[in-house]
Amino acid sequence: MANAQQAWRVAWLVWLAWLVLGLLCILPAVLPLSSLPLLSDWLPAISHHVLPEKARYSPISYWLLLTLVWQLQRLRPVAPGPFFSVAFRQDLLWYFATMGFRLLFLGTWAFAVVTVYTHYLSFLTLPGVAQWHPIAQFVLGVLLADFARWLSHLIRHKVPLFWAFHSVHHAQRDLNLFTDARVHPVDRMVSSLVTSLALLVTGNGVPAVILWMVIETLYPKFYHANVRIDLGPLRYLLVTPQSHRVHHGVEHRYHDCNFGFLFSVWDRVFGTQYPEHHIWPPTGIPDAEFPLEQAGDPVGLFRTLYRQLIYPFASLRRRA
Ligand SMILES: [Zn+2]
Ligand SMILES: [Zn+2]
Repeated sequence: MANAQQAWRVAWLVWLAWLVLGLLCILPAVLPLSSLPLLSDWLPAISHHVLPEKARYSPISYWLLLTLVWQLQRLRPVAPGPFFSVAFRQDLLWYFATMGFRLLFLGTWAFAVVTVYTHYLSFLTLPGVAQWHPIAQFVLGVLLADFARWLSHLIRHKVPLFWAFHSVHHAQRDLNLFTDARVHPVDRMVSSLVTSLALLVTGNGVPAVILWMVIETLYPKFYHANVRIDLGPLRYLLVTPQSHRVHHGVEHRYHDCNFGFLFSVWDRVFGTQYPEHHIWPPTGIPDAEFPLEQAGDPVGLFRTLYRQLIYPFASLRRRA
């Protein structure tokens, strides 16, 4: 009886802390950006690479997403287990490492893509689209970007050189909220190149790009989470946690299907959609040499991250 009372007290405390955190997340959205200490004072170098609106709304959208997934995972997990598992911690470290890569390198990469496009490829911009209503322009941009994402994903599976890098993302056996961040920097450069080009040819401006970035950041977190959800009839339009789990399936029959990023329509149009909607296969890659995460302590997590980063190069050398 005493133990049950104690458990309830802990649960209430966790909820209270979570509520306070949620209220704190609202602060950046309502305060002027210049008063955000993290951006303006502590990390001035970062502020040049973060779009102000994204910095403003990211904390609250993350808080909402984490709350939603936390509850969904409690109610409908694919594989029951602790929320803060070793796999989750490893992918969370990937998330922070990716932020680092973005600041050090990917920001420059994006800048280079835009510069090259503006100077040499602007003739590719679709004529007349600039005069369209911004919503129509955005819808076309999203459709093109999503199709480009689908196509680049297919190529990253079919070309052995690209697969070596993309397989790091596929190696996760316990899919979780942050598995979408477990993407090798080389793999990320290839995919971000095609997406930015699609948005650029449709002449989309900064607000549209920010909206796309928010969708792009949040939606894949939902479908990588450990939740047993297939979205019912919406699965004919959108990628779901079920369809993406099949894409991550370790068995050979799942390898080349469900490449969609946001919409599942491209897979349906081009015949790469796996037909079954009620299967939740085990995930991972069939390579015994892959350095799977086993240690959950900080040193172990960093060591595994390093091994996973060099894995594609070692794997390519082995094959050569
Ligand atoms: Zn893939
Ligand atoms: Zn994935």
